[in-house]
Amino acid sequence: MLHKIDPEKVGPFGEPMEEAVRSCVHCGFCLAACPTYGELGQELDTPRGRIVLMKEVLEGGVEMEEALPHLDACLGCLACEPACPSGVQYRNLISPFRALAEDERSRPLGEKVRRRLVSLTLPYPNRFRAVARMAKLARSLAGRILPKAMRPMMELLPSSLPPGQKLQERYEAQGERRATVALLAGCAQQVLDPDINVATIEVLTRSGAEVLVPRGQTCCGALSWHVGDHRAAKDFARRNIEAFPEVDAVITNAAGCGSGMHEYPLILKGTDDEERAAELAARVVDVSVFLEQLGGPGEIPDRGEEVTVAYHDACHLSNGQGVRSDPRRLLRRIPGMKVVELSDAHLCCGSAGTYNIDQPEVAASLGEQKARAVLGSGAKIVASGNIGCLAQLKMHLGKLDDSIRVRHTIQVLRDALKGI
Ligand code: SF4
Ligand code: SF4
Repeated sequence: MLHKIDPEKVGPFGEPMEEAVRSCVHCGFCLAACPTYGELGQELDTPRGRIVLMKEVLEGGVEMEEALPHLDACLGCLACEPACPSGVQYRNLISPFRALAEDERSRPLGEKVRRRLVSLTLPYPNRFRAVARMAKLARSLAGRILPKAMRPMMELLPSSLPPGQKLQERYEAQGERRATVALLAGCAQQVLDPDINVATIEVLTRSGAEVLVPRGQTCCGALSWHVGDHRAAKDFARRNIEAFPEVDAVITNAAGCGSGMHEYPLILKGTDDEERAAELAARVVDVSVFLEQLGGPGEIPDRGEEVTVAYHDACHLSNGQGVRSDPRRLLRRIPGMKVVELSDAHLCCGSAGTYNIDQPEVAASLGEQKARAVLGSGAKIVASGNIGCLAQLKMHLGKLDDSIRVRHTIQVLRDALKGI
């Protein structure tokens, strides 16, 4: 697309943003892939419409305030990227744009308070646990005293939490050591389902990997990055660059975190840390991919029963990191396990970081559609590789049929290895 953006004026993000705008040829192949187009039905809520809007704002032809409602409605699911024949890197445009917009925009007080609360709690497991424990009380108050902007956040908090799991700094490989890896423990995941990290460590060590859990690590920063809080994202990225040692791989088990760490070179673009960011990002790999690289987790006992599992592609695994076949292959290694596809496999479940807090109506509609697709698949288990998707699926499936188990792929694999 022809444009008059001056990359010099946009700062360090100028070049990748200009490249994304320039490579869009306006063909519209991405429209069918975009969940918000399906929900909202307007050109300005499509990838193509949003690219034009961002270009116009960067050129000074459209006011920022006019464009923001359509850009805020973007899930950041990146379904538009694999659908695009011109290879537009939409991620290089939307998150940098949100970072630039944040310095200019004004928000209502309730929204400011809600954003501040989220940024002060979600990335910190101890704080988040304390807040989530108060969820019951908060929910009962939500209808009465909390500002409207904060109610969706309260509704998402679970009524009870599993006990926390304190992780060691190091876990030895079982048998011959084939690799040393470092695990990103994540933030919200440690609170909502700490067993995911336990299962990850169990399967990795059984597969011959020594697992380190570096103490100085923090939240990956993806949540901050995707809502335009560039300062916080840079700070988290820098702290993780310091914390993670040189290992064979940095393992992530939450799609959003893995995708976020792959974006460290963009987050730190134009800073002294850009090169180190690229070095770390190159070592980041999803646990499913790493296990397949190792040749799988070894022999899995045959329980002599058939189980059907539906696999849900987390957007930041499939679109963000191009990981589609490895988790399915891992599940198919389990004797008796039949892996089925969801009818709307390409569609986001509506979780998308803090999207279900910021845009609750669209998020709820997508969540319900995904839950219905799981029901329609006939599966008894639905597996995915992202805590946000798992929480969203649990919430919406729970309203329709609570007999379907919602599990992380690595939990399904660990249970099968243990014969449980
Ligand atoms: S498919 Fe790609 S090139 Fe075509 S309109 Fe969408 S983003 Fe632009
Ligand atoms: S990231 Fe997702 S919601 Fe946003 S424009 Fe692309 S496909 Fe649509």
